[in-house]
Amino acid sequence: MAIAQEHVQLEKLNAMDPESLLVWAWENHGARAGIFTSFQNTGCVITDMAARVAPGLRVITVDTLRLPDETYAFMDTVERHYGMTIERFQPDPERLKRMLEQHGEYLFFDSKPKQEFCCKIRKVEPNQRALRTVDVWITGLRRDQSESRKEVAKVSVVMQEERSIIKIAPLVDWTEEDVRRYIEENDVPYNPLYDMGYTSIGCKICTTPTLSWEDKRAGRWRWFNHTHEGGGAAKECGIHVGGSGI
Ligand code: SF4
Repeated sequence: MAIAQEHVQLEKLNAMDPESLLVWAWENHGARAGIFTSFQNTGCVITDMAARVAPGLRVITVDTLRLPDETYAFMDTVERHYGMTIERFQPDPERLKRMLEQHGEYLFFDSKPKQEFCCKIRKVEPNQRALRTVDVWITGLRRDQSESRKEVAKVSVVMQEERSIIKIAPLVDWTEEDVRRYIEENDVPYNPLYDMGYTSIGCKICTTPTLSWEDKRAGRWRWFNHTHEGGGAAKECGIHVGGSGI
């Protein structure tokens, strides 16, 4: 189905429940649709729903090669639990090697631009490569995750490298409590880092546990919190900023 026609359907899609959206993506776009997840709780719920209602849907992740050991072990658990293979997109080896030679492994401590450069090489570029393989990008974004995500649309058309693709956040209006309840009631496997105080999960060192009164993404790049560079969009890695990029 042409992307232009999909515009007409946006209103209809926005009214659908999460499972119907997954079925629609699979039935209308097949292998050109994919669930992009970093295996945080919302992505785990979407993966579980898809395993029941649209088991052919691809499950795609960006492996930055700096994920916590717990996350690598958890991905193996997910594959075993659902009998699926997760597609892992990693940084380009040459670009990664050049970055490490020029700036070292821990460049993200030096400045916000260097952290963004690291995210670009390790996350954004592999994610863009993965996005070239889909017309429907299914994400685990929720409006209650941070200030910068309050306006996220459930279904939208976004430009990706001069190409329109459909971006779907099936659980956009779910609360953290809704997600937790689904996980408990359906016995969904979840990343053990949540039981260690994490409320957002990314690369090791760059992501830390949070306190109960903090923003869910406050644990990201904490060393920037006390400068003008911290907070808001600064807690985004670039993938979901400006519709361009998990
Ligand atoms: S979160 Fe940290 S290690 Fe991971 S890509 Fe970004 S700066 Fe690099």
